[in-house]
Amino acid sequence: MSFSADVKNELLSVETQNECCLHAFCYGFLLCSRSFSYRDISILTEHKETAQVYADTIYRVCSVAPSVVKSGAGKYRLEIKNSDDRVKVMSSFGYDSKSRTMRINYANIADDCCKSAFLRGVFLSCGTVNDPSKRYHLEFVLPFKNLIKDLAYFISGFEEFQMDYEPKIIQRNSNYVMYFKGSEAIEDILTVMGAVNSSLEVMGAKMYKDMRNNVNRKLNFENANLDKTVGAASRQIDAIGKIKKTIGISRLPDELKEIARLRYDNPDMSLRELSESLTEPLSRSGVNHRLKKICDIADSIK
Ligand SMILES: [Zn+2]
Repeated sequence: MSFSADVKNELLSVETQNECCLHAFCYGFLLCSRSFSYRDISILTEHKETAQVYADTIYRVCSVAPSVVKSGAGKYRLEIKNSDDRVKVMSSFGYDSKSRTMRINYANIADDCCKSAFLRGVFLSCGTVNDPSKRYHLEFVLPFKNLIKDLAYFISGFEEFQMDYEPKIIQRNSNYVMYFKGSEAIEDILTVMGAVNSSLEVMGAKMYKDMRNNVNRKLNFENANLDKTVGAASRQIDAIGKIKKTIGISRLPDELKEIARLRYDNPDMSLRELSESLTEPLSRSGVNHRLKKICDIADSIK
């Protein structure tokens, strides 16, 4: 199952305690559903459980029972067919026949306790979130520009967030998409909606990624150092080979003879290993210095 489906399952399992919050939750998923107006109230969902929760909630909040039909494409369609019932639902949320429905009616989410429940309903209707191990991306998609702007304003106002997040809005075909990119924003949004486990999963994915990046950085650093060592060693061996063929190692100053033979016979040794193999101990920089001298002598041989 996708991460988004996991999140939605978690959101469906959240118990909405207060009547006011249940009202706000119902308003959230209806407002952002396929159609919410006097002429048509209908919701499409892929999940039977979601359809069931929606139908129960609408009944509890508005005393109207929607019909639930399984469509040909395997989706579930909730619909309120009777026009009197639609009037009942619309007026439950403060709309009369003249009001514009595609704006947030803040009277439905006046209490602080209701804001989370409202957002939970909104996300269930029009939200998705990507698997955090792949990328951090959470979005809300609606065909109404003003409503998506209202939502962006509403979400930016959560006091529970760790910081201010600026949602981006873009147009995608005939829809408007509001999205969040950072892992912190996604964690915060999931948490306020009540998807605490999913939020922890995002946190875990972030920690794992950070750790892996650190390890990779360290490995790259070590590999770069290793390459440097290998490059230096092969230059030193070329130099010693040249000395062997020309003046001979025995003509080198005494303090360079042993290290020259040792390096020539052990191309893979690190500076530390070379320093430890000398009869008289020497620091790594001491070894490096002498090897450099040998290279200089080789360079001076015409
Ligand atoms: Zn409430």
